[in-house]
Amino acid sequence: MDTIQNGVVVSLTYTLKLQNGEVIDFSEADDPLEYLHGADNIIPGLERELTGLKIGDSKEVHVEAVDGYGEYDPEEVEDVERKLLPRDMELRLGMVLAIRDEEGHLNEAYVRAITPDSVQLDFNHPLAGQALYFSVQVVGLRDATVEEVEHGHPHGIELDEEFEDDEFDDEMDFEFDFEDDEEFDDDEYEDDVEGDA
Ligand code: ZN
Repeated sequence: MDTIQNGVVVSLTYTLKLQNGEVIDFSEADDPLEYLHGADNIIPGLERELTGLKIGDSKEVHVEAVDGYGEYDPEEVEDVERKLLPRDMELRLGMVLAIRDEEGHLNEAYVRAITPDSVQLDFNHPLAGQALYFSVQVVGLRDATVEEVEHGHPHGIELDEEFEDDEFDDEMDFEFDFEDDEEFDDDEYEDDVEGDA
């Protein structure tokens, strides 16, 4: 295996810029990004352009929002009554909350506004609507193990389970039911909020 293809664990260094040139993320040679190609570990517009590259290759990749973190969707913003959140939760503008939906999946939401009575949560990815400009270099390739292919992600030495829920160290994790964007029935919802952070 000499080139990037499905089933290969790829190590990359990269710089990610927005259209205005602002660098918003990077990974250097001492701590490269490791991902499993073909397993949706990275955004589709980047993964597609990396197929076929070899170790040492560099590439500039321009990814439109639709192939990145998606278009910004105003419908993904929810106003939540403050009393439905755990009482001892400290809220700050811009903080990320991990919110478990009815199927048990964790969704990240950003706190966009806080009033005495309500909190506005934005479920859009912070990079939704943005065109992304990557400069990447391939620094490592290896075949994935059977277990890695089964799990759909690499098992790095220090990055254990990077793509699992555990990555939200700093974040609050609580359950919250949103019901069809309708107004909340207080009595019904009071018992559903379980802060376990
Ligand atoms: Zn795993």
